[in-house]
Amino acid sequence: MSKGLKQTKSRLLILDVLDKADKPLTAEEIYWLIQNEEDPINLSTVYRTLEVFLNKNIVQIPLMKDGNKASYILNRDEHHHYLVCDKCHTMIKIDFCPFDEFEKQVEQLTSFTILKHKLELFGICPKCQRERK
Ligand SMILES: [Zn+2]
Ligand SMILES: [Zn+2]
Repeated sequence: MSKGLKQTKSRLLILDVLDKADKPLTAEEIYWLIQNEEDPINLSTVYRTLEVFLNKNIVQIPLMKDGNKASYILNRDEHHHYLVCDKCHTMIKIDFCPFDEFEKQVEQLTSFTILKHKLELFGICPKCQRERK
């Protein structure tokens, strides 16, 4: 593990779960995914570990609307954008980024060095569209 963190079993488990996840996970979801009967890890450990990860910039919380629980993703060098359903709050990862060219243009126009950006698209997922009818 980088960034001067001690490797503990719970930390490694949580990193592993986040690494395999294809969507942001809440602390509770992570907690359930790492449970194993012989050696249980409690929820407060999960919260504490996520807090440490957040401070070390190992995980991040994608922008969410108010009232939703925080969910966590691994802070990878590559980044992802999400579609978020307004009704059921499902988040779907979009695997491409439309901003590469745009960033270059903005840098040229403004002399800014752009480090990162965020984009989330809000709408209604196919499942909720069907339920509407
Ligand atoms: Zn939906
Ligand atoms: Zn992007």
